[in-house]
Amino acid sequence: MAELELTDDVPSVADDGVWLTCIECGEDFAPFDAIRYTCDECDGLLEARYADLPTWDDFEGEGVWRYNAALPFEEGVTLPEGHTPLHRVPRLEDDVGVSALRIKHEGMNPTGSFKDRGMTVGVRVAQELGVGRLACASTGNTSAALAAYGARADLETLVLLPAGKVAAGKVAQASLHGARILEVDGNFDQCLDIVQDLASRGEAYLLNSLNPFRLEGQKTIGLEFMEQFFADYETYPDRIVLPVGNAGNTAALYKCFRELRKAGAIEEGDVPKITGVQAEGSAPMVEAVQEGNDEVRRWDEVETIATAIRIGNPVNAPKALPGIRETGGTAVAVSDEEITSAQRDLAEEGVGVEPASAASVAGLRKLREQGVVDSDENVVCLTTGHLLKDPDAAAKAGVDPEPVPNDTDAVLDHLAGN
Ligand SMILES: *Cc1c(COP(=O)(O)O)cnc(C)c1O
Ligand SMILES: [Zn+2]
Repeated sequence: MAELELTDDVPSVADDGVWLTCIECGEDFAPFDAIRYTCDECDGLLEARYADLPTWDDFEGEGVWRYNAALPFEEGVTLPEGHTPLHRVPRLEDDVGVSALRIKHEGMNPTGSFKDRGMTVGVRVAQELGVGRLACASTGNTSAALAAYGARADLETLVLLPAGKVAAGKVAQASLHGARILEVDGNFDQCLDIVQDLASRGEAYLLNSLNPFRLEGQKTIGLEFMEQFFADYETYPDRIVLPVGNAGNTAALYKCFRELRKAGAIEEGDVPKITGVQAEGSAPMVEAVQEGNDEVRRWDEVETIATAIRIGNPVNAPKALPGIRETGGTAVAVSDEEITSAQRDLAEEGVGVEPASAASVAGLRKLREQGVVDSDENVVCLTTGHLLKDPDAAAKAGVDPEPVPNDTDAVLDHLAGN
């Protein structure tokens, strides 16, 4: 299993108190002297580490950069991102049957998903490294975010998408923000294989969640909802439920909680149980958690309406699986019907999300019904992307427009049901 304990030793390669550590073999690397996504020695995943970890008093301002004391830089290319709402959903809370349910709606970021939090930091690192071209494979939202932040930074961007499997809003964003869009005749995992090859040949700087700095930006989701929840309840949530694709967010949240513990900002009992949700047709992490495996088996065939999590080979699994286990969390698979139903439930509370996001609420409902989640729990569900990302799915889940004649009396007749 991966070694994720944070130590006090600062290696000589550290630059201004920041370095990269391989979570498999423990090798340390200077953070910005060369482009590196995985360990030179063993190809393991890398994690950013810091000589000093901040606590609540060290944060000021708003959004991702409020937490710059926990990030490798003071500021970055910003649109700005973060500072998303922690919605109340009283009817849904009642219906699901938990003590408190709040929705952390990451769809309210500038390009409509949490990927913006990763990109503001990732693109800042790209500037530090002086790279010319940014690239990613994407189920859609990463490409939208990369295109926007790349445009803002005046850097060339290249995105690889699985042909026919990306929601309309996301392609439109990548397109208008001026990314070069390559549609691959294959699935997301195959797009990622190709873009990793391109990156290793020096053709582009990789901004998928394999890039450890993107996860630094995304860990601010955790910092933010912990502060927001505490402000309202004077306690921290018992559980965080989130959709899982590449498991980047799952890994980022676990890192957030490890750092808060190490800094003394929270007690051991304050760490929320990390609870991952996948679609039944795309559930390799759920399989690993339920079977107690240390490794995740790659699924070659994946299918779900939640295209953002249509991923068979979650690259961050070595960082995420220990997070689910160590925090006492779990993972659960939900059907496409359950996802659509949860999307409607959220919409009825005024919260508009794309299908992948609704998986979190669908998963919570299922775990509550199974008795895995208790009625006295305080829960935060993460909704990762905005409703408008996937207008086709929204229209299908919603009510149909009714054609009426161009005449007021006829409209009244129609409303009266005649
Ligand atoms: C990227 C994405 C996910 C998956 O997040 P991971 O960090 O890859 O697990 C889930 N939902 C939406 C809307 C996304 O864009
Ligand atoms: Zn290594």
